[in-house]
Amino acid sequence: MAEAMVFGRADERAPTGERVAHGTHERECDVVVIGAGLGGLLTAAQFLRRGQRVVVVERLAHPGGRFTAKTFQGAQVSTGAVHMLPFGTNGELAAMLRALGVPHHIHDSQVFASFHVRGRQYVCRSVLQLAHVFGARQFAQFVRLGYEMLLRQPRPEEQTLTYHQWLDRRISRAHSPELYAYFERVCHFALSVDLDDVTYPEIVETTKNMFRYGAPGIVEGGCAALTGELERRVTTTPGGELLLQHETLAITQEGGAATGVRVRDKRTGEVTLLHAPLVISNIGPQATQRLMDAPSLETSDEEPSAPAGKREASGLKVHLLSDVSVIPHRGIMYCLDTERIAGIVQPSNSDARLAPPGKHLLITHQLMRSDDVNAEREAARADLRRLFGDDFGTKITILTMSQYRGEWPVNRRAQGADVTPTTPLTGLYLVGDAVKPSGYLMVEGVAQSVNSLLDTLDGANHAIPHSSHTPPKPPKRRAFRWLVAPPPPHAGS
Ligand SMILES: Cc1cc2nc3c(=O)[nH]c(=O)nc-3n(C[C@H](O)[C@H](O)[C@H](O)COP(=O)(O)OP(=O)(O)OC[C@H]3O[C@@H](n4cnc5c(N)ncnc54)[C@H](O)[C@@H]3O)c2cc1C
Repeated sequence: MAEAMVFGRADERAPTGERVAHGTHERECDVVVIGAGLGGLLTAAQFLRRGQRVVVVERLAHPGGRFTAKTFQGAQVSTGAVHMLPFGTNGELAAMLRALGVPHHIHDSQVFASFHVRGRQYVCRSVLQLAHVFGARQFAQFVRLGYEMLLRQPRPEEQTLTYHQWLDRRISRAHSPELYAYFERVCHFALSVDLDDVTYPEIVETTKNMFRYGAPGIVEGGCAALTGELERRVTTTPGGELLLQHETLAITQEGGAATGVRVRDKRTGEVTLLHAPLVISNIGPQATQRLMDAPSLETSDEEPSAPAGKREASGLKVHLLSDVSVIPHRGIMYCLDTERIAGIVQPSNSDARLAPPGKHLLITHQLMRSDDVNAEREAARADLRRLFGDDFGTKITILTMSQYRGEWPVNRRAQGADVTPTTPLTGLYLVGDAVKPSGYLMVEGVAQSVNSLLDTLDGANHAIPHSSHTPPKPPKRRAFRWLVAPPPPHAGS
């Protein structure tokens, strides 16, 4: 992989030559990226910036993976994400977009969140305003738990506890229903796993980051605008190429090293061998494993410290159109008095074009608690009736309802169960939401997986002076700003 770093600039070099041997087309490039999701596109943009010749192979007819959208009845219906970056303009994805010079605009939330409880919504600009949601006794418990989570390191005996076990030793659902629901719903909405499926130390890392970085933000134009810009970057930079509707059939290898990929054009059936010394897979460890003949990717890395239970994050999402505004801010409304729905966003508050004229776009998110899709969907409808009463079905109507699991999950690895970018094959690396470093959720984790990859490659290439691509975290004291208001948007945003 070190060789890949010392190639000349793409525009100074001959274009990727194509030859045909025994009916198979063959081409060469410096880097092949399997999958044009956010992780694959960011990776391609990084290597193009280094002057490499990069081919991105995507099996679908469009790039963006689970971070794009289709226009449906005038609304931007996303293929996954709710158009939201967890840490907004202050996050690692935004930092990477700025460093790459990718045009984008993010609208940070102006509030901590709002909470639907006891049949009404409480908008909290700051953490202190949570006192209205919880009442004095539960707020005192909240402060004590917040202190334990944020101001001291997990003790040795807490290292192996699940979040559920840790919480149950401190509060009970029966005596502190709103507080318990708060911890549960934030976990469901932000991580798409249950309290049993994530360790307490991982929750501590994630929560600290949520407070230190800043408020979540909605992407102007939605997910599709952002990955659309990255697509443009790949297709207009010399040396970059995006092969849509091309399925990667296999990762080729020789002597323990990846040598490229075999891909098939889904429209013509034509098979091409793409030779490259560096292959980056954006499709997750399991799907990557199926393309290669090598020891398991799951055991190649340090075994992650996640509970044995759940290895992927799954969820159910509902897009709704509403005649009336339901959420009066750009952030998340957590639902503490529902059975399943964990939270709702109204992304059209940030960009009205995400909904048809005169309408508001609402997106709900909840865990998939079982494989019974009908029961899960009915639970969502019951919650919507509970939340909106007679307005549901009249002023507020369902646009789409979809479940995300298996090949198209919320995260390919549950928070804390992630793998590292390295694999048993030299020259084969992983990026994406199965490679999230501890504490980085969703697309912040995807961006950090690309930073980890660059760190790994540059660390192994002694010709390049090593400087970390993974930026230092914002200072701890930033988290205290939440006591009165959200930290301000990034100055460069
Ligand atoms: C319901 C839901 C809500 C979410 N909400 C948020 C949110 O609000 N904020 C947030 O930050 N994140 C959110 N996420 C998570 C976020 O969408 C993902 O973490 C992120 O999009 C993953 O990007 P990726 O590049 O790792 O993978 P993907 O987007 O899955 O990209 C992988 C790509 O590889 C392609 N591919 C697969 N196999 C092959 C093959 N053999 N050959 C060629 N191509 C192949 C796929 O078609 C796909 O395009 C949500 C996800 C879901 C499902």
